[in-house]
Amino acid sequence: MAQKAIEAGLEPSVVEKTILEKISTTGSGYSDLEVLMDDCLNDTAKSDAASSQSQDEDPLEKLWKLQREKQCKICMDRDICIVFIPCGHLATCKQCSETLIKCPICCGAITQKLKTYIA
Ligand SMILES: [Zn+2]
Ligand SMILES: [Zn+2]
Repeated sequence: MAQKAIEAGLEPSVVEKTILEKISTTGSGYSDLEVLMDDCLNDTAKSDAASSQSQDEDPLEKLWKLQREKQCKICMDRDICIVFIPCGHLATCKQCSETLIKCPICCGAITQKLKTYIA
């Protein structure tokens, strides 16, 4: 029975798993090849859906995270565009950086404020 299903193009591991599951839940194997094939195909479809679902990160969530990461840490409104020298933190927009003498992230003294451009 398993051999026939494999010959019909099914994954040997899936066929084996499906038969074992059937035996453990009902106490007997398959008597009909078509039923076995159906169950195997259902099993493949199920595991495919499950694996692709767990891998996919929500694109909106991703975008929101990205957006938040490049937002000025002071006004939370404009985009970050200033890097502090020497600590190298990217944390604020131009307007907010103008009043700062210390980095808001590490509290290090700022000797220079460099404009950056995010491509
Ligand atoms: Zn700002
Ligand atoms: Zn810093």
